[in-house]
Amino acid sequence: MLNFDLHNHSLASDGLLAPAALVKIAARNGCDGFALTDHDTLAGLDEARQAAAAVGLRFIQGVEISVTWPDAAADADARANAIHIVGLGIDPGNAALVGGLEAIRAGRRERAARIADDLARAGIVVTLEDALSHCANPEMIGRTHFARALVAKGRVKHLSQAFERYLTRGKPGYVPHRWAQLADAIRWIDGAGGIAVLAHPGRYHLDAAQVRQLMQDFMTAGGRAVEVVTGSHSPRQVGEFAGHARALGLYASRGADYHGPGESRFEPGMMP
Ligand code: AMP
Ligand code: MN
Ligand code: MN
Ligand code: MN
Repeated sequence: MLNFDLHNHSLASDGLLAPAALVKIAARNGCDGFALTDHDTLAGLDEARQAAAAVGLRFIQGVEISVTWPDAAADADARANAIHIVGLGIDPGNAALVGGLEAIRAGRRERAARIADDLARAGIVVTLEDALSHCANPEMIGRTHFARALVAKGRVKHLSQAFERYLTRGKPGYVPHRWAQLADAIRWIDGAGGIAVLAHPGRYHLDAAQVRQLMQDFMTAGGRAVEVVTGSHSPRQVGEFAGHARALGLYASRGADYHGPGESRFEPGMMP
């Protein structure tokens, strides 16, 4: 059996390690193939590709694109879900993909300022500068960097507490945001020669009908795979989404969604 790990994050987005350090871990853990899939950026791919070539590890160029679904859901609409689409085997020189990701990152900066304002209004002293001090690639500022700042300031004990108390819907520090459209993200991936993967479908708090609709919209737009084995899925969810993949004729993907030491359940290559 081959050990491929097709979902991992570096300092280029909200991971804690440099791309080369991730490659080293993947090689040590016996990976046969490794993908770097940073959120909304291709900035880490060169370093990872070179590091993988140096140790003879097969490298897959990837990305994880932030999407708002369904399209019709307005910014503040309670039906709006942030969905992640992983792209595997993409050409990082593709202009449409590069341009699409640039637009998403511009939205992140503006959103981060709104998150900071929201926290300030609630009397929580974590500023945009605090969050940026935990972010190696300022273009890619996101909730994880605010969460780390909240932990560092002693406001919460750990990352998931920061999300529970401050950064999820209905909490001070949560601001609605419009990401890319599902069909656009899949078109960018497809156009760049990649395979679009519906990331961690078990994480979206959708009911069964919504999951079916999401899968249908995803396939209609050209999506070809679903993440089955991933860090945030329970064994029951692995079975559930393996079933969806079989029934719909989608490829099944596997990826740790590793963000760094102490923040993730599985290192690259260590999942079932
Ligand atoms: P953003 O794209 O800025 O909204 O941030 C999303 C990221 O936050 C995800 O990719 C995860 O890395 C992280 N995240 C979301 N929810 C949690 C949680 N409950 N605990 C830890 N990290 C989380
Ligand atoms: Mn992340
Ligand atoms: Mn994700
Ligand atoms: Mn991820």
